[in-house]
Amino acid sequence: MTANEIRKAFLDFFASKGHTIVPSAPIVIKNDPTLMFTNAGMNQFKAIFLGEETLKFTRAVDTQRCLRVSGKHNDLEEVGIDTYHHTMFEMLGNWSFGDYFKKEAIAWSWELLTEVYKIDKSRLYVTYFEGDEKEGLEKDTETYNFWKEFVAEANILPGNKKDNFWEMGETGPCGPSSEIHYDNRPDSERALVDGATLVNGDHDQVIEIWNNVFMQFNRLKDGSLQLLPAKHVDTGMGFERLVRVMQGKTSNYDTDVFQPMISFIAERSGKKYNSAVKPGREGWNEAVAMRVLADHIRAISFAIADGQLPSNNKAGYVIRRILRRAVRYSYQYLEFKEPFLNQLVPLLAEQFKRVFDNLYDQKDFVQKVVLEEEISFLRTLLSGINRFNQMTSVFATAQTVVNGDGTQIHTPYKNVVSGKNAFELSDTYGFPLDLTELMAREKGWQVDVKGFNEALQQQKTRSRAATAIDTGDWVVLKDDDTVEFTGYDETESIAHIVKYRKV
Ligand code: ATP
Ligand code: MG
Ligand code: MG
Ligand code: MG
Repeated sequence: MTANEIRKAFLDFFASKGHTIVPSAPIVIKNDPTLMFTNAGMNQFKAIFLGEETLKFTRAVDTQRCLRVSGKHNDLEEVGIDTYHHTMFEMLGNWSFGDYFKKEAIAWSWELLTEVYKIDKSRLYVTYFEGDEKEGLEKDTETYNFWKEFVAEANILPGNKKDNFWEMGETGPCGPSSEIHYDNRPDSERALVDGATLVNGDHDQVIEIWNNVFMQFNRLKDGSLQLLPAKHVDTGMGFERLVRVMQGKTSNYDTDVFQPMISFIAERSGKKYNSAVKPGREGWNEAVAMRVLADHIRAISFAIADGQLPSNNKAGYVIRRILRRAVRYSYQYLEFKEPFLNQLVPLLAEQFKRVFDNLYDQKDFVQKVVLEEEISFLRTLLSGINRFNQMTSVFATAQTVVNGDGTQIHTPYKNVVSGKNAFELSDTYGFPLDLTELMAREKGWQVDVKGFNEALQQQKTRSRAATAIDTGDWVVLKDDDTVEFTGYDETESIAHIVKYRKV
């Protein structure tokens, strides 16, 4: 099955069980101070779960575009290194608002996976909440019993509060969850090590694909739990992971979700994509870079299409950081010395035509924004890399520190980019802190983050004194406005300020 067929089968399956197909909410959240980007399918239904709103239907199904690059869920560092965490991904979900509960949710998820998708049962593991005495939370025996109707006992595993109990916040709806994991290892390996021992263990081939949350309690301010009058089901399945399972691949990047983009990157860079290369081996950096580009362009494009332009603060800076991270990878490892990332936008828009049309409709605008961001960062990138290399060319040596009482400690050999240097990279060359940290990590170095923050604070104090107005980098235009590039604002120390005006 193609990715598009797999997505459609999910929506159709739950529609056949009385679910209304609802559109994805935007990836950018403008009216919730607690969250900048949608990070789960349930976000758009928060008010319903809190009992503040009702819908005309009690069952829904959708595919939600999500971003996990900040806050509670931040998977950025995993991207390109592992095979299954993305910045932007689709979360398939089915929902019951005070309607069906554990029994149906469990039976349907099993039916879909094993009868519609025909996934090998022996490779699936399911989990239930084992309870937590200290927190006064009971074991979720109901879930265990419902699973027992379908799944071999050895494949039903207990899970702790971290993995199997979901809470919206300090107060509000919460409840146990049940995850479904898939073991993709070859039979020879499965014979040697029991897959059950690898679930939730960061194994690249034993991965979580679906999470079913059963909201049955309301946590009150005093910390106690009350049974909810109406119980809800909230599920989330990683679409790209499901596609990988269905297409029999060992990496999400080997599916038709990412391959068109990776092939394009490989062709244009003149380098081969080696999916199987191991860390540290020849071709590893190039493979990571290709995966990062194919991943990051999705996050950037959907954020821009949903109304979040790159900028110098808050959500806008999150997007600019991702973009610069991608540009650095493409420049250093794929040797794209000219803007390249933006050329992926039309390809991506085409891929999501009729799935998320808003990207297709705005593809020219999105491409233009990415292009201008690339142009501006490429102006300082090479000098920044050179400066970074200079800063990290002198190695520290092991030290012996003598304590007040005369005892000695041998501190390990430790190379640190000072806060002042990291700040210089940011202020003069536009290197976000996390980019400096990433480049440092690649060399086995660390960054003095505390020192960086102090230097940043000092500069903020200085500039607050100098100017009272803080202007954004972009003028946010309405959909029907056309834009014209009017050049750089050379008065800024980092030459990344691009101005557009309405024409
Ligand atoms: P993991 O443990 O693998 O990080 P999670 O427990 O954080 O996943 P949930 O919050 O339960 O994930 O989200 C529901 C589903 O969304 C997961 O079962 C997984 O399939 C998918 N998912 C979560 N994070 C990502 C990501 N960064 N990229 C792709 N899919 C993801
Ligand atoms: Mg996670
Ligand atoms: Mg998990
Ligand atoms: Mg989970």
